Amino acid sequence: MEVAAEMENNSQKIPEGVWAKLREKGLSASDIKLNTVADLDFTGNPAEIWIIATDKRLLIIPQKGMHEEFDLQLEKIKKLRIRASIGSAYLQAKIDEFFIDIVRFTNGLRYKFSRFIVQLELLKQGKPVSDEYINEPHPMTCPVCGLPLQTERAVCPRCARQGPILFRVIVLLEPYLHWVIIVLILMFISVGLNLVPPKLTQILVDEVLTTRRHVDWLIWIVVALVSAELTRALINMVVGTLTTSVGTLITFDLRKKLFRKLQELSVDYYDQQSVGTLMTRFSSDVEAFHGFVTQAGQGFLLNLFLIAGIGLMLFFINARLAFYVLIPVPLVMFGTYFFWNRIYPMNFKLWDSQAKISRFLNIVLSGIRVVKAFAQEEKEIRRFESMAANLRDSNRRVGINVAKFNPMMTFLFSTGGLIVWYAGGKAVLENQGFTLGQLMAFLSYTSMFYAPLSQMALMSNWVSSFVTASHRIFEIFDTEPQLKDSPNAIRMPHIKGHIKFEHVTFGYDPYQPIIKDVSFEIEPGQLVGIVGKSGSGKTTLVNLICRFYDVQEGAIYIDGKDIRDISSYDLRRQIGLVLQEPFLFRASIAENILYGRPDATFKEILNASKAANCHDFIMKLPMGYDLYLREHGAGISGGEKQRIGIARALLCDPPILILDEATSSVDTESEKKIQDALAILCKNRTTIVVAHRLSTLKDADKILVVDNGRIVESGNHHQLMEKKGIYYRLVMMQLKLTSIETEVI
Ligand code: ADP
Repeated sequence: MEVAAEMENNSQKIPEGVWAKLREKGLSASDIKLNTVADLDFTGNPAEIWIIATDKRLLIIPQKGMHEEFDLQLEKIKKLRIRASIGSAYLQAKIDEFFIDIVRFTNGLRYKFSRFIVQLELLKQGKPVSDEYINEPHPMTCPVCGLPLQTERAVCPRCARQGPILFRVIVLLEPYLHWVIIVLILMFISVGLNLVPPKLTQILVDEVLTTRRHVDWLIWIVVALVSAELTRALINMVVGTLTTSVGTLITFDLRKKLFRKLQELSVDYYDQQSVGTLMTRFSSDVEAFHGFVTQAGQGFLLNLFLIAGIGLMLFFINARLAFYVLIPVPLVMFGTYFFWNRIYPMNFKLWDSQAKISRFLNIVLSGIRVVKAFAQEEKEIRRFESMAANLRDSNRRVGINVAKFNPMMTFLFSTGGLIVWYAGGKAVLENQGFTLGQLMAFLSYTSMFYAPLSQMALMSNWVSSFVTASHRIFEIFDTEPQLKDSPNAIRMPHIKGHIKFEHVTFGYDPYQPIIKDVSFEIEPGQLVGIVGKSGSGKTTLVNLICRFYDVQEGAIYIDGKDIRDISSYDLRRQIGLVLQEPFLFRASIAENILYGRPDATFKEILNASKAANCHDFIMKLPMGYDLYLREHGAGISGGEKQRIGIARALLCDPPILILDEATSSVDTESEKKIQDALAILCKNRTTIVVAHRLSTLKDADKILVVDNGRIVESGNHHQLMEKKGIYYRLVMMQLKLTSIETEVI
């Protein structure tokens, strides 16, 4: 009993068979710290393999499937890692000097096992661990229905309630309320005019054609019919114009707001989003709002009013017959409800396929050189074809469902009309006070009644795609920027450039630290180098200084103020950042340099580009500073792009300048030029250089050596060389490489 109660507390219920084995090994529920399940055996067949950790042991116990049992001492496991293979992956443990496979699982569980590794590491260090953390669903799936989401922890479109979304859309219409009211009034008039022709037909048949009581009315009735039609046409024109105007204004507004919001969101949002997906939101999703206003004005609301007006007329002419007309209505309601539930997930899949194609096109077309250089055109064509086939299938599925639904609804409606023909015809023949004119008017109203009803039934299709689209837009609006300025953020228009890291710990995933307990200090005006192996966390340090992300533990101070308290506008404006691949816009060279300070004079541009050592090469270009750069600066070399990037940063005259691997992708001559520029650049400002080539840093005041997220050495070049540590080894290695290169040359 006691075991059962404790088992309940565990997030995954360990089956009895596994418990039996655990008891044999002398373990009880209180010993178990972590548990999770893998779903394959080593041959790749489906299985249920339990991984159980106590604070001393790691046990692998199969519940279903053939699998080896393991009972490993935690202290003997030096490291755990995931080895990826095609379609599946292995969890490996390093024991002595070798990695051994301990379980195999499908790729869907990789996220879970990467978290398991982190928790096991904490367990080994005697820190508290959480089972729930391991087994919590991937943040990009809905925890309720499992539907893949577009962003981490986004609201699931299937589980979200539709009502509040529609309400929010209506709130968006508020600034256009006066136009909406005018459209509503015009619609009322239009509906009234719609009801006139059948009534006039009744008078025409009863008073003119059958009884010939008022033969002279013929001409006036026809004139009245023409006038009603003409007025209706005019009103429809005005309603159409107004709804289109309001629709385009709303999409214009939305696009502006959306773009502003995207600019406000922090860098971590863009880590999760693909450019293609965001572009779809700008194009088709925003356009859906235009569709909504048009539909609401000319379709949905008009139809609703028509149904009410015609319904009244039907009851007014003959209440008994009107009831017959209503017979198919519940079936229509049921059909619509059924259809709604069916079509909604399909629409989501359709959008997902569209977004995947945009994403794919975006990536492949921007990387077209790589595709061609590796002769992968055929492979990309095949990938595109398979995505296009998915889109085709999703589109077809929605289309086929609509095609099946329509005729069924038409059939249901026509049955109502046939009942009226029979019962109404009988009433006319038996002279029950029901005239031929009334029957004809009734039948006209009946046909007019079903048309908007059938459109209303199809509304569900349209509403469902609209709700999905608006949902995605609101999702962006609802995303809170992770890094927001506090209302009393400190304004610092003149930063001196003193930087201090105090016990900083940070990970892009808060549970997987990349920067671990880092402390250092940089005085204003110092030139500081950051070196280390690739992946050691150098760029992450830079990202933290720019406050693209917030630290999880510790603090970063600039001029003695915590950067979380500094106005981010002041902070970023005074940090010049030059990246390894500076992004150049499709604009002239001058415009690219001016990007951070559009008000700079031409003399200032010249000074900046001279200091960045790029003036000479720009002057040799056919159009000089006016040369219009193509996509990503195609047409000029890597080193030249780099120097334009430096000039751009310099023009802002930032008190803090950061060059992140800015010299690593250029040839020796360009590097020399950049280095010469650097000597001038770093005067009177704090300069941080993340360098791959250590020769760049000979004159640095301080060099920080980063290894696995920690600062392992710090000092100037000579001090570090004397120390004969990691820096020394890196320098020696580069020297060897350079001498080999020289020999080859
Ligand atoms: P370096 O600049 O030393 O080459 P980085 O700071 O770029 O190293 O990366 C350190 C680690 O952080 C790497 O393991 C990398 O995979 C990871 N990393 C970098 N950027 C991100 C990101 N945006 N999201 C998640 N992980 C990241």
